[in-house]
Amino acid sequence: MFGGFGLYFLFVLPPFLLGLWAQWRVKSNFNKYSRVRTVREMTGAQVARAMLDAEGLYNVKVEESRGYLSDHYDPRSKTLRLSPEVYRTPSVAAAGIAAHEMGHALQDAKRYVPLVARSALVPAVQFGSSIGTWMLFGGLLLQGFLQFQFGFYIAVVGLALFAMTAVFALVTLPVEFDASSRAKKLLASHGILYNEELKGVDRVLDAAALTYIAAAIQALMTVAYYALILFGGRRD
Ligand SMILES: [Zn+2]
Repeated sequence: MFGGFGLYFLFVLPPFLLGLWAQWRVKSNFNKYSRVRTVREMTGAQVARAMLDAEGLYNVKVEESRGYLSDHYDPRSKTLRLSPEVYRTPSVAAAGIAAHEMGHALQDAKRYVPLVARSALVPAVQFGSSIGTWMLFGGLLLQGFLQFQFGFYIAVVGLALFAMTAVFALVTLPVEFDASSRAKKLLASHGILYNEELKGVDRVLDAAALTYIAAAIQALMTVAYYALILFGGRRD
């Protein structure tokens, strides 16, 4: 019924390995460019504050968060939370990440459509990844072991709900790419970093983008694998 573990690994292992590699690249680039001090010697916190003010986002707070690479923007409290390494360090990596998170604050202020769509999807994704998974496997078990045909339809609905996780991962891509491209433009136009320094920012942010690409492929392949179990098994 489950199409063999070989098939599962064929679908899910390559994007999983790509994800691991991308995460390793994020860490190695972050560590490398954390040691490269910027000419203007602004910490991540100062970069974020300067850019927010320059764009008129005086209401957005900048706070220090706990945990390595825990940087994020919280749209509900309008707060940029930067990890200690980013918040306190005047490095190329810190400037790049602070500017990226500031890019999310700018998206929020401008009601950037993919960001709005992404936030709206959150409840559906939570529902789909929990209830959808139960319905998918519950339906498959009912169909497979009890020969209960209705189980197939329960599984189809479960898969459709679970597929929200892939939709979410796909909508995340433009949100992340756009935040990074805003970050690079603003770091240059506000004169916070110089050309050579911007290359380091590219490395750090491109590696981060790759983790989101890997996550999206992984989500799509998982849905494709379940679809194959569901619809492929039916033809037998
Ligand atoms: Zn981001």
